[in-house]
Amino acid sequence: MHSPAPLKFASPLLDEATVAAATDVLRSGHITSGPWVERFEAALSAHCEGRPVRVLTSATAAVEVALQLAGVGPGDEVITCAQSFFTVLNMIVKVGATPVFVDCEPVTRNIDLGQVEAKIGPRTRAIIPTHWPGSLTNLDALYALARRHELRVIEDAALVLGSRWRSRQVGAIGDLVTLSFHPNKNITTIEGGAIVCNDDAEAKRIEVLRFHGIERLADGTRDVAFPGGKFNLSDVSARIGVAQLERLPGFLATRRALVERYFARFATDPACELPPRPVDGDGQSWNMFCVLLPLARLAITRKEFREALAARGIMTGVSYEALHLSTLGRRYGYREGDLPETERIAAATVTLPLHAAMTMADVDRVCAACAEVVALHRKGGR
Ligand SMILES: *Cc1c(COP(=O)(O)O)cnc(C)c1O
Repeated sequence: MHSPAPLKFASPLLDEATVAAATDVLRSGHITSGPWVERFEAALSAHCEGRPVRVLTSATAAVEVALQLAGVGPGDEVITCAQSFFTVLNMIVKVGATPVFVDCEPVTRNIDLGQVEAKIGPRTRAIIPTHWPGSLTNLDALYALARRHELRVIEDAALVLGSRWRSRQVGAIGDLVTLSFHPNKNITTIEGGAIVCNDDAEAKRIEVLRFHGIERLADGTRDVAFPGGKFNLSDVSARIGVAQLERLPGFLATRRALVERYFARFATDPACELPPRPVDGDGQSWNMFCVLLPLARLAITRKEFREALAARGIMTGVSYEALHLSTLGRRYGYREGDLPETERIAAATVTLPLHAAMTMADVDRVCAACAEVVALHRKGGR
């Protein structure tokens, strides 16, 4: 019996032309940051309607540098959402600041802006919202709040390159916006990330912060005033990024079609909770498709559900664990019950396969397997 290859929950899509282009750079003799980094930054800037963009080795490096650029350091507080990836917690702590968590909205999983205001104090310097695929954080409300309290904003847009807010691209408006080009994201550079910033002075500052903190002096020597990192992207990665960005509209269209198929075909009894179906379907990029299992009505755990899918050749993920309940998060005094929506989602969420290399038949296979596993393990028999 031929069984299909295991379906990964995320996967990059690199064509032969891109591989050949990257090989040309490898053969060129100039492989680290150079002309292709500049071209990739120019292409990203055009995508963001002209705002300056600087690329780095990851979105995690981008969040760290964005915090430094915003002047966040020891003694400062940064408000963020606990239903997000470890990057936001880690980088706030790494720059010496204190993470202040709020809960997410129950349906979209975006930061609950209504809870942010109550957490703003004299030490608050910035807000980091993570945008969820399918529905962006409300940028009008976010920036009205930030302006009112004179706070910097770092939008964690790792998952939503290509999404639009009222017809504007993510990154085209706002304060600092960070992007990821990890292989699981909408486009990849192998590893990579970027910061969209406000002006040339900020862009210059990022160039210093991503490369040792080095500033060039008039006499041809160098100085360091602030301990910068080593986060410059290679030209090989940037060349891949230029090719990938050209294909972004196609990737997004494929992902949207796959998600439409999920919405049309995904049905389990008892029902899983699906992400909200966007009203402006065309404006939203879909990086992940995460469902909540009806665990109270199942006789299996999430781990067992995921193992049952893996046995059927379907790989899944968990996005995300509750940041405030990680060992690091608890160090700031958080406990179970503090952020109920985040915890409810963290306990039951499963990331189903979604990537631009998938077919409609793959989605159908996932839907059938989920329906079968849920039916097999329904509490109280069939
Ligand atoms: C992937 C991801 C990151 C980190 O991206 P890297 O480029 O791997 O550092 C940060 N935030 C979110 C929401 C992500 O999904």
